[in-house]
Amino acid sequence: MGSFRFGSGFGPRDGGFHAGQDFEAADGTPFYACAGGTVLYIGEAQGYGQWIVIDHPASVGGGVTEYGHMWHAGATGLQVGDRVDGGQLLGYVGSNGQSSGPHLHLSVMPHGYAPQAKLDPMTWLASAIYPDGGPMIRGLDFAGGRPGAAAIRAAGFGFVVRYLSHGGPSLPGKQLLPEEAEDYRAHGVEIVSNWESWGDRMREGRAAGREDAQAALAQVLACGGRPQKAGKN
Ligand SMILES: [Zn+2]
Repeated sequence: MGSFRFGSGFGPRDGGFHAGQDFEAADGTPFYACAGGTVLYIGEAQGYGQWIVIDHPASVGGGVTEYGHMWHAGATGLQVGDRVDGGQLLGYVGSNGQSSGPHLHLSVMPHGYAPQAKLDPMTWLASAIYPDGGPMIRGLDFAGGRPGAAAIRAAGFGFVVRYLSHGGPSLPGKQLLPEEAEDYRAHGVEIVSNWESWGDRMREGRAAGREDAQAALAQVLACGGRPQKAGKN
């Protein structure tokens, strides 16, 4: 299996809205069905160049998934009406259609084919099957109202997404603090940290970016995290 990197996520992009998740990977990287279902559409599609659309029965959670940008959607011989299993090879990553480089575009619709009702695939994928049958680790991304690591672990989550930014009045109570980090570690909950900023900050340029990166690192270290090898800044 090849490796995928997260590309554009679900949200506003280039003055429009990107209603899916992009997974960047080398041209030709195989990708697999998120769940079992029936091929609804396959072949040429506007924007995607080529696509595959799978309709999932209620027994596996329902919904429709859409995979785009492959060079040849029929590469594995699938046709409309074919049944696929969760984790079955569907096709190979390409850069067909409106694409700036090889990637898989994934869209998810909750009930039948309804392009105006797309969901964030990353949320939906939390219940998907991995091709190797390995365990899926579920994480929790929250802001205020921290439930405590014991409750998070008991609810079946293996990691939390926590902010290193202080937030200020607009994002109160978000910053990961040393005591909280210690609580997670004591309960075997991993911490995925990120930095959240505000729109205007992006316009302040390189010095502001560097300052934020240093503040983020300081917070990682204060919380007992390990410094990563720093790139040139
Ligand atoms: Zn996309």
